[in-house]
Amino acid sequence: MRNMRPIDLRSDTVTKPAAAMREAMANAEVGDDVFAGDPTINRLQEKVAQLLGKEAAIYVPSGSMANQTAIRAQTQPGDEIITHEDNHIYHYEAGAPAALSGCSLKLLPGKHGFFDAEAVRSALRPADSHFPQSSLIVIENTHNRGGGTCWSIDAIADIRRVADEHGLKMHLDGARLLNACIAKGHKPADYAKYFDTVSICFSKGLGAPVGSAVASTKEKIKRVHRFRKMFGGGMRQGGIIAAGALYALENHVDRLATDHANAKKLATALAEIPGLSIDLGSVETNILYCDIDPRLGTGPDFASKLNEAGVWMIATAPQRIRAVTHLDVSTEDIDRAIEIVRKSVA
Ligand SMILES: *Cc1c(COP(=O)(O)O)cnc(C)c1O
Repeated sequence: MRNMRPIDLRSDTVTKPAAAMREAMANAEVGDDVFAGDPTINRLQEKVAQLLGKEAAIYVPSGSMANQTAIRAQTQPGDEIITHEDNHIYHYEAGAPAALSGCSLKLLPGKHGFFDAEAVRSALRPADSHFPQSSLIVIENTHNRGGGTCWSIDAIADIRRVADEHGLKMHLDGARLLNACIAKGHKPADYAKYFDTVSICFSKGLGAPVGSAVASTKEKIKRVHRFRKMFGGGMRQGGIIAAGALYALENHVDRLATDHANAKKLATALAEIPGLSIDLGSVETNILYCDIDPRLGTGPDFASKLNEAGVWMIATAPQRIRAVTHLDVSTEDIDRAIEIVRKSVA
């Protein structure tokens, strides 16, 4: 085992661009994107707008910047954002809604990262000067901490009706939207049409090295563009990295089905190992969470034991570990990972 390549299941962000993607990047036509003069970025933005059925899109350096520029563009300081208590914007973006937009968050509970229109209705603040103003709803799809779960379009449509009745905007954190589309057989625009702004990420399952995008109306993208500059995300000859994102959109979308099958295979096998439990129904895409019986140690202990044996996962709670499948993990790697976990438990 010692000299075998570790199987890295920590995240789908760990993929490295292979030769063909690097070649596309090396050959990218570039210009100064702050002057809107980078032809490769422009091509990527048009492609994303088209994919999501929106008027315009903008390339940004990270998924956090995509979410935060969209939030800033649609809120005022003192506003409240309605979202799920397990959402990325709350846990993993360094408190940015408060720091960059002056907004508080109204956190809704719910299984697998979901909430419904009724919960939104009860969370709305009355129009009274005592209260923060509810102005934006943020949904995450797929839902990372929920287990890579996919939202139903009907649930989103119901929430949209409440938003429209009360003049709220909606943002979709679609870092893994294309995983949801492949799993559910929906087109990206089928989801996107319910949202004012939509973000997608190229450096997760799609396997590009850098970048995300926000799509919306032309008018709103102009505002996002302003905040991208303010937050320090204006890029110059960014076409070099945008070419990786374009390559990923053209070549790495349909293959997400392989990642989903690998995650299902891994989850099914691990669930049969005594001491490990997995909610198999929630394994819809490329993420799985596994609860560890305390007799096997804590989540961090167990993760570090696996790590030494050549399977890299991360502990996300005291008795919980997470595995994520991706472009650089083959079905053979998954078979090997299952064997290693079995041996580690025994
Ligand atoms: C990764 C991720 C993001 C963006 O994270 P960055 O590290 O800033 O690229 C946003 N939302 C979700 C759901 C994510 O998983």
